Amino acid sequence: MPNPPTTKPRGRHFFANPGPTNIPDSILRAMDRPSIDFMDPEFVPVYDAAFAGVKRVLRTEQHLFMYNASGHGAWEASLTNLLSPGDTILVLESGYFSDEWAAMARGHGLQVQVVAADWRRGVDIADVGKALAADTGHAIKAVCVVHNETATGMMLPLPEIRAAIDAAAHPALLLVDTISSLGSLEFRMDDWKIDCVVGGSQKGLMLPTGMSFTGVSDKAMQAHETAKLHRFYFDWTMMVKRASKSFIGTIPVNIFYGLRESIRLLDEEGLDAVVARHARLAEATRRAVTVWAGNNGPRLFCMTPGRFSNSVTAILMPEGTNADALRKTVRERFNVSLGGGLGKLSGTVFRIGHLGDLNEPMLLGALTAIEMALRIDGIPHGRGGVEAAMAFLAGE
Ligand SMILES: *Cc1c(COP(=O)(O)O)cnc(C)c1O
Repeated sequence: MPNPPTTKPRGRHFFANPGPTNIPDSILRAMDRPSIDFMDPEFVPVYDAAFAGVKRVLRTEQHLFMYNASGHGAWEASLTNLLSPGDTILVLESGYFSDEWAAMARGHGLQVQVVAADWRRGVDIADVGKALAADTGHAIKAVCVVHNETATGMMLPLPEIRAAIDAAAHPALLLVDTISSLGSLEFRMDDWKIDCVVGGSQKGLMLPTGMSFTGVSDKAMQAHETAKLHRFYFDWTMMVKRASKSFIGTIPVNIFYGLRESIRLLDEEGLDAVVARHARLAEATRRAVTVWAGNNGPRLFCMTPGRFSNSVTAILMPEGTNADALRKTVRERFNVSLGGGLGKLSGTVFRIGHLGDLNEPMLLGALTAIEMALRIDGIPHGRGGVEAAMAFLAGE
């Protein structure tokens, strides 16, 4: 049967992107309210509860600064508050997002040393140790790591990276982007001795885009005292003096009502259960893709099983086929949105986001739409991916 013409999509828009993510109805309801002054006594406890909640999710008892900005703003805050012009940073290459963070650092006049990696395999941690050991003059002021590379579907082992820095007895700060891992994958700022954590609202925290934050260690606050990069809107010294301990400018009141509800949802399920749910849904996704890979079909982009991301899976299309054409079929026929390939992966990779407010039927809906689109577009693949996912989720 030929592909029918596009009609107006009906039913719920199935959103399977790795960010933004689905916003739970209870968060939408919590935010649906008229404006009040952010100094209003009614709002203060909402702010305080949300602020304390984010620290709990970060698993830190140190400092937190929040911003009216997407994740890029928190990236900028992490660099400009901790470094001075000409400083060297060591960036672990993971994919599009590590490249972008490095590009931002260069834009701010920093020297960027890269631990290069194949995007499908990820960095060799031994190379991190070697780079630090070679830096006997301690020119490297910070090591920057994207915990969960959203472009490739790979998670890097933060405790191993911490151990490599300690083994080299190197004083560099450890900066971690946890934008697509926080609230989805295990993350422990204080236990893992992370000096600056970059997080955002629109992924594991299930909120709209536009609010981001940094968790900051005592050691990083000391480095901040002498850091000379230009900053104003993101300046921690100015923020510390405010009652809110954050936000230069108006506090996004409605987002905070949503954030308080987001934290309540995470607490109600329990962070460990949240992490386990993400692991289960991710494994089901990988089982489906592994079946599709038969017959020279689409396959897992990440080739290092110990580093599979449990919040996003990137899928490499067979040669001669186009990931965006498949995404178009999925979108137009089934009203399902998938993530595209980023940077040099554009057109060859698509991504399934399985983080945030998600359950088994939602995931199976997305997987089913993809498997139907593979048939419709005549793309070679192994049949029965959804069946494999169902079998796993049913505990067979
Ligand atoms: C989404 C994302 C970002 C970018 O955040 P924005 O909110 O789009 O500015 C940065 N890093 C990672 C790992 C991400 O997934």
